[in-house]
Amino acid sequence: MVGYDLHTHSDASDGTTAVEDNVRLALEVGLEGLGVTDHDTTAAWERARVAADGTGLEIVPGTEFSAEHEGSSVHVLGFWFDPYDARLVEELDRLRNEREHRARAITRRFQELGFDVSFARIRELAGAAPIARPHIATAAVEAGAAATRQEVFDRFLADGGPVYVPKHAVSPVRAVELLTDAGGVAVLAHPGLFGARDGRTGTPDELVEEMTAAGLSGIEVDHPDHTARHRARYDALARALGLTSTAGSDYHGAAKPNRLGEVSCSRSVVDELRARIRGRT
Ligand code: AMP
Ligand code: FE
Ligand code: FE
Ligand code: ZN
Repeated sequence: MVGYDLHTHSDASDGTTAVEDNVRLALEVGLEGLGVTDHDTTAAWERARVAADGTGLEIVPGTEFSAEHEGSSVHVLGFWFDPYDARLVEELDRLRNEREHRARAITRRFQELGFDVSFARIRELAGAAPIARPHIATAAVEAGAAATRQEVFDRFLADGGPVYVPKHAVSPVRAVELLTDAGGVAVLAHPGLFGARDGRTGTPDELVEEMTAAGLSGIEVDHPDHTARHRARYDALARALGLTSTAGSDYHGAAKPNRLGEVSCSRSVVDELRARIRGRT
């Protein structure tokens, strides 16, 4: 058993695999538990539970909630919240809706640069999922803007890039409040990746402190894109603030090189996190 991978995507957001495939893969690599954390949606929860039923694999239902701070993305993982909580559902609907407008704006910017990226194609690539930048990157490769999706990000689409448009997103503090008010726990995702593409400075300590005051439960210390320095920095910060250090692969199927289960945390970490659900401690 290699523990819990608390951060994965399926084709319910910008992953390329069905959630049933993720469950199968999790069993293959010997995971005890799988976090189902699609961007701004809970659409894959039920299918994940059905696929895992009777296998012994624990599904940890979650989402990766979009927040924004000073023009850069901050992602907040939420787990075990009520998927029908009215305020949370309203905000998730708004986030998904705003993603459409933003994709149109990014499409216009590509067109201004002379690349015939089509919104209809992006919509088709996303299917029922909320549109995310990887869908746009695929359409941009097809339109000849760059040879690979990563090159599209590096040249155009990364935070602060020439076609980048921030999406409507709540503040990180608000994201924590919404997730905890809905009966869940909130974990700051990949804090080392915060900042514009030219200067990824990492999520500022002060912001993590503010989020902690709002009810943050943990920090995703172990993530494939984190350096050893990131891990040391945020593990120390988690200890100083009394937060749980978690791990997640950020698996996206073929959309990213990350392998499901490549980083994981123990059951005791997950139990510690679960015990932080407000009112249960
Ligand atoms: P969005 O939520 O639409 O802003 O898209 C965020 C997703 O885009 C992330 O989850 C990653 O999958 C991808 N992404 C963001 N920045 C980069 C980058 N610099 N290189 C590769 N993928 C990225
Ligand atoms: Fe993603
Ligand atoms: Fe993320
Ligand atoms: Zn993710």
